[in-house]
Amino acid sequence: MPTEISRGLERVKKYKGDIIRIRRDLHMYPELGNEEFRTSKVVSEVLEGLGLKVERGIAGTGVVGLLEGGSSEKTIALRADMDALPIQDRKEAAYSSRVEGKMHACGHDAHTAMLLGAAMVLAEMKDRLCGNVKFIFQPAEENTGGAARMIEAGIMENPHVDAIFGLHVSPELEVGTVGIRYGTANACSDDVRIEVLGSSAHGAQPHKGVDAIVIASQVINALQQIISRKIDPLEPATLTIGTIMGGTQSNIIADRVKMTGTIRTLDSATRERIKKSIEGITASVSRAMGGQHRVIVEPGYPLLINDSSMTDLVKKAAGRIVGEGVIEIGKPRLGVEDFAYYLQRAPGSFWRLGTGNEEKGIKCIAHSPCFDIDEDALCIGTAVHVQTVLDYLG
Ligand SMILES: [Zn+2]
Ligand SMILES: [Zn+2]
Repeated sequence: MPTEISRGLERVKKYKGDIIRIRRDLHMYPELGNEEFRTSKVVSEVLEGLGLKVERGIAGTGVVGLLEGGSSEKTIALRADMDALPIQDRKEAAYSSRVEGKMHACGHDAHTAMLLGAAMVLAEMKDRLCGNVKFIFQPAEENTGGAARMIEAGIMENPHVDAIFGLHVSPELEVGTVGIRYGTANACSDDVRIEVLGSSAHGAQPHKGVDAIVIASQVINALQQIISRKIDPLEPATLTIGTIMGGTQSNIIADRVKMTGTIRTLDSATRERIKKSIEGITASVSRAMGGQHRVIVEPGYPLLINDSSMTDLVKKAAGRIVGEGVIEIGKPRLGVEDFAYYLQRAPGSFWRLGTGNEEKGIKCIAHSPCFDIDEDALCIGTAVHVQTVLDYLG
């Protein structure tokens, strides 16, 4: 192994036990978005113990730690998300979730542990840093976009953040690799709410009412034609109806059905076309069948666009840790990520840490009940965080 690679990892090794212990602790006690009370307490205590300036209770449960370095005015921020998901943990591990129906199935426990690890390493090197490091621990990445509220609360100022970096664990990439992407890395989303209105009748006399369930089923089928027939096949886009609720009893014609869904696109023209088509199709189908409709589309997370020079920086920093293991990811994802909000305020880059391991059987995808990471990746992620800071602050 080349010496530079050993040095980057060597710095972190000392804290390996701490990072794994924190990750497992958070993994056992997962908290959903906006309820990260215990997690933010764990985070604050570690940061305070390191002598950082700590602000708690930002946007609810958010925490920011500031490490003030030497002379330079520059400030680099690193971000982790802390929330878990409403999923029952099905894996067999000593550190499986102890909380019924809740699980760190997206790896945010690992993000938090690695960022704390980076704080431990950098606090020790404080005198050598030409600038400040802001450690951002945000709530609710999965549900309500905690990033936007952290920004509203002012975390990108005092001191002003000049560049920001974040990572996401990736079971699709093998441990020992780091994925980077220039430009657009994640889609933007829109939340869709559709209501179809009919009128009730006895289930044995359907002709005396307007069946909202039958209308809804036609609407859902017709909506499938938007992506397949209205959008350029070379343009990535998806429309998913994720929930449907209607009816009260088996022998009553339902007068109302509510559906919710999500639109994912990479381009504003495609986004507008889909939104318009949803309204048009829902209106026409409902009217043709004697019912009424209501469609509300609200913007979700924005596009995540990585800055090229900041991505270059991550590429070099990661190269110093994993050598040939840096992979340029070929395609953007239609998944969304609220790190996008930070990138609207400061240049930065969001990268992927390989946490899969075919040999060990660690390959379950995020948001699945068997999700896990290869903990060997924790030191790598921490080391890349640290190297990014050292390279940025020169
Ligand atoms: Zn997730
Ligand atoms: Zn996630």
